[in-house]
Amino acid sequence: METGTAEQSAEAIEASNGSTKPSADRIEVHNPATGRLITTVPIDSPDSVTATVARVRANQAEWEAIGIEGRYHWLGKLRDWILDNTEQIADTMQAETGKVRGDLFMDLGYVADLINFYGAKAEKFIGDETVRPHSPLVASKKLLIRYRPHPVVGVICPWNFPLAMGLGDSIPALQAGAAVVVKPSEFTPLSLIEVIKAWKEEIGAPDVFDCVLGTGEAGGALIDNVDYVQFTGSDRTGRKVMARAAETLTPVSLELGGKDPMIVLADADVDRAANAAAWGGMVNSGQLCISVERIYVEEPVYDEFVAKLTKEVSGLRQGADGRKPEKDVGAMTSPNQSAVVEDHVNDALASGARALTGGKKADGPGDYFEPTVLVDVNHSMKVMRDETFGPVVGVMKVRDSEQALELANDSRYGLAASVFGEKERAERVARRVEAGSVNVNDVIINMAAMGVPMGGWKESGIGYRHGEPGIKKYCRIESTVITRFAGKREPSWYPYTKARRGLVNRISQAVNARDLKRRLGLRG
Ligand code: NAD
Repeated sequence: METGTAEQSAEAIEASNGSTKPSADRIEVHNPATGRLITTVPIDSPDSVTATVARVRANQAEWEAIGIEGRYHWLGKLRDWILDNTEQIADTMQAETGKVRGDLFMDLGYVADLINFYGAKAEKFIGDETVRPHSPLVASKKLLIRYRPHPVVGVICPWNFPLAMGLGDSIPALQAGAAVVVKPSEFTPLSLIEVIKAWKEEIGAPDVFDCVLGTGEAGGALIDNVDYVQFTGSDRTGRKVMARAAETLTPVSLELGGKDPMIVLADADVDRAANAAAWGGMVNSGQLCISVERIYVEEPVYDEFVAKLTKEVSGLRQGADGRKPEKDVGAMTSPNQSAVVEDHVNDALASGARALTGGKKADGPGDYFEPTVLVDVNHSMKVMRDETFGPVVGVMKVRDSEQALELANDSRYGLAASVFGEKERAERVARRVEAGSVNVNDVIINMAAMGVPMGGWKESGIGYRHGEPGIKKYCRIESTVITRFAGKREPSWYPYTKARRGLVNRISQAVNARDLKRRLGLRG
């Protein structure tokens, strides 16, 4: 992969390369907070993707052979590099995403934590397992389960968390012993390029981790070449990824979109619920797969909740900040998504919804959508049905928890959810929400609770990240059956004589029958 000027810090790039001319085989990377061109990066052709995969594949066996501790040694060095260079990577990521400084910790802290989590747990999750033989027929065997990595894992990721997704999903794969090639989003490749350059040059780690750059074409070529695909993105693209992977029977894990509901019960701490809804709906400008997108509030606390939520959201400071966290809500990273947000809000307003705060694009420079609270919404509106992925929440009053559940579950998505209320009642309601993760009296925190798996139900995905499944998915099970004592031949082998077949039948009868008569070879 040719990285060119993208390897400089984005700030320097922006200062020096603001006028770089794009060409057909390069992608322009813009700063969404200013609209300015940061730089261009080269596009990998399908042949170049094939070559990158082949190169890391050649080094994978050695990577697997150094074992869990050996791999953690290198991943630990990556963690240390990230911790030592946090501000510099944050600058790059801030430039390519338009995030406010306060939102950046979600990427960087997460990745360091993930390295430690899988470094400490890998032996437990994917270490060799000895299994007791289940039957006297195999009692003389030693049974072993080994978790052998898919040799090369392809990670395809979105633009909303360039490192938490691109690097985050690579970490358990690398820890499992796979080589990894990542295709970052065409909108936000720069911070990942920087990390991979450090892996190779500053850390000097084995050449088993690289990235390829481009759009869907590079993504497709990656799918064709790897042994396992970890995809994070929209359900629209997820379907294409799965279809393409089917051509080569390559297994996939899909982390897709969501339309996460929040339920506020009458016995909730309304202040906490309103503050959680404001942060959970607006953090990262709502560009989070597990953002709070729709809220159902029991009638007795509806007015109080809406007033507090509106006050909190209307007080948020939107815009670009630098290294000092001076703003709360940043830019829309992808112009495509910005158009979707505008469409959803306009559709709702045209159908009778009211914006209590926000409701439109903010004036430039940069691509911003005002933090928005909508009421008088219903499930005929796109904003309550489809993924908005912007700083917008729709709030509905509900009669009781039954109606809240009915509406929360009335969705083709099932990624995450939250329930606020008295702990035991909220937990009872949470058990009936159709989603892969449910937070009680908190939002989004399941992303940090790595001990439990996180994945989507329904059209929100297939497979899980985090916990045991989050590393096991990168492995193929290899069962080894080892003969401890044996003669020259087994009774079931040749020659098939009447006496030997009779013996086999009598053994089978004795072992499989569950009553004495049959065990002795008599009819029941
Ligand atoms: P997207 O689906 O448009 O693109 C995702 C990635 O797929 C990009 O790298 C893109 O270049 C690549 N791609 C596009 N077409 C492809 C093809 N035909 N074959 C292979 N790769 C292809 O998604 P996006 O707009 O970048 O990200 C936003 C979406 O991601 C939202 O729906 C959001 O909910 C979802 N997301 C989900 C999670 C999760 O954990 N479930 C996390 C973050 C984001």
